[in-house]
Amino acid sequence: MLIGNHLAASKGYAAMGKNALELGANTFAFFTRNPRGGKAKKMDEADVEKFLNLAKENGFGKIVAHAPYTMNLCAAKEDIRAFSKNMFVDDMQRMEYTPGNYYNFHPGSHVGQGVEAGIEMIAEVMNDVLTPEQNTTVLLETMAGKGSEVGGKFEELRAILDRIHLPEKVGVCFDTCHVWDAGYDIAGHLDEVLAEFDRVIGLDRLYAVHFNDSLNERGSHKDRHAKIGEGQIGAKALERVVKHPLLAGRPFILETPNDDAGYQREIALVREWAEA
Ligand code: FE
Ligand code: FE
Ligand code: ZN
Repeated sequence: MLIGNHLAASKGYAAMGKNALELGANTFAFFTRNPRGGKAKKMDEADVEKFLNLAKENGFGKIVAHAPYTMNLCAAKEDIRAFSKNMFVDDMQRMEYTPGNYYNFHPGSHVGQGVEAGIEMIAEVMNDVLTPEQNTTVLLETMAGKGSEVGGKFEELRAILDRIHLPEKVGVCFDTCHVWDAGYDIAGHLDEVLAEFDRVIGLDRLYAVHFNDSLNERGSHKDRHAKIGEGQIGAKALERVVKHPLLAGRPFILETPNDDAGYQREIALVREWAEA
């Protein structure tokens, strides 16, 4: 079982690796830069080297970097789109220091331009930025469909994927809270939702799971994460997600509102479910 949580990136890669080990994790997520800002810290090669050794020694799975929330590839304003593209380019270069991992991002918000226009813009930037040489797989996150978010429907992610010239560099990250908030009944009909994902996108494109409970009811389009078992999806349903054979092998990342002790407990709980 590959399980971990979202860690604070401020202390560097080696510190994140150590923190993950302390929590019982063998993968993790982190923001490549301030999630609300744009500036990234300079890469420290010695720090990255230490992390790569630690990850190898401890059998870490792929880590799942997260793009900043300010990155909107389909913003209405040209300057925000340009700023977002620059961050994307820079993050792809930074990711190459830790080759072979995942970079997850929110497809974007079309802010009134319409979902089709959003899909076109997102795919266009991705096609400009992605290269055949890169060793990172970029993941489109399933979204709650809040406001004008693109990616609240599997069909929208599929429409982006269909436009990508380097499909082997792009996959999907399945966020349980977002999928639920978008209206998919993973609590009552998990098999059907996964069958739908397979029909529309293909389960072979599902590379990672963001594992969260949701504060709100199904279809709320709110995107408020809850601790595992303390939300509307519930522990029983989330246990079935962990145990589902069609999701086996993917890194599961907790983005629940927790401190370290809470994450440690949830990581242990997920492991228990996976191994039972
Ligand atoms: Fe996210
Ligand atoms: Fe997420
Ligand atoms: Zn969320």
